[in-house]
Amino acid sequence: MNIETIAIHAGNIVTDSHQPAVMPITLSTTFLHQEESLIYSRANNPNRMALEQVLRQLEYGKDAAAFSSGNAAGMAVFQSLEPGSHVIAPDDMYHGLRNQLIHLFRGVLSVSFVDMANLDAVAAAFRQETALVWIETPSNPLLKIASIQSIAQLAKGHACRVVCDNTFATPVFQNPLTLGADIVMHSTTKYLGGHSDILGGALVTKEQDEFWTKVRMVQHTGGAVPSPFDCYYLCRSIKTLPYRMKGHAANGRAIAAFLDQHPQVEQVYFPGLASHVGNDIAAAQMKDFGGMLSFLISGDASTADNFISKLRYFTNATSLGGVESLIERRAASEGPDTQTPENLIRVSVGLESLEDLIKDLSQAF
Ligand SMILES: *Cc1c(COP(=O)(O)O)cnc(C)c1O
Repeated sequence: MNIETIAIHAGNIVTDSHQPAVMPITLSTTFLHQEESLIYSRANNPNRMALEQVLRQLEYGKDAAAFSSGNAAGMAVFQSLEPGSHVIAPDDMYHGLRNQLIHLFRGVLSVSFVDMANLDAVAAAFRQETALVWIETPSNPLLKIASIQSIAQLAKGHACRVVCDNTFATPVFQNPLTLGADIVMHSTTKYLGGHSDILGGALVTKEQDEFWTKVRMVQHTGGAVPSPFDCYYLCRSIKTLPYRMKGHAANGRAIAAFLDQHPQVEQVYFPGLASHVGNDIAAAQMKDFGGMLSFLISGDASTADNFISKLRYFTNATSLGGVESLIERRAASEGPDTQTPENLIRVSVGLESLEDLIKDLSQAF
């Protein structure tokens, strides 16, 4: 099956004798004791099985596990490591996961935050006790590109596991398992949900090994699982993911080009621009570049805030990946210890008419 077909058919498991065309929601928390039946819905339920099946197939993995948020999915990986393990993570890692490593796993795991675009720096960071390399590409908010294949090769030399946060690229544009990663992580809150109304996360594994058994144990026993409603809505959203991503990528590319030539823009960060550092790696490992971009507006924080306040179709809000365009001055969201420039504006390009979006940006300048 090609991806458009997987997205529509893989998560639609109908066992009901009425044979509805669309899989129903099963709300029951418990199931009749019989051979091979489900037992209790924290351990498993039909809608989560359907979601995990479509996610597994979208990422070409052996198995998938769904969680109640992207952060819970990431945490399940860290909780599956042996105490005392060392983790190599990006210096611009998603701040929520970075905060887990710094605050929740203090004294349990040690971490080196490294520029993943610099392979020498990655190579120098390995220690005897390194167990995990975490990749996030494209990264947030500078859209930095890490080579999944090169980092996976380095990690194999040290018998380390590689996990890739694939939230920005989505399985439509990048499949880290086929490039050497062991596990893919998603915040399904973003493009997979696609309508800014579901919180969720997922892991997909290349092998059903001992580490994956621990991840499943964290999922079942930790209990940060999505509800049948959430799983149902995610399956429904995923059916249109490949077509939504085509629209996000087309609008993203055009808006990046528009901003790139605008006299009031200092710099645009978008992996599809030839001038973007890592454009060659992105072009090799991604099928397209997605709808996330950032730019530096000429001026300071107040110039940026003023620009954002004049927009009509770009909602000033955090998060990303929905059908509606979102925009934010990123430093304001990241708090006082942020390294993000004060005049950096992050855009999640939505699926509105490109003409309307560009008109809106033009009048706000
Ligand atoms: C949003 C996000 C997360 C965290 O996901 P939640 O669903 O908000 O818990 C992790 N990584 C990236 C890249 C994200 O954008």
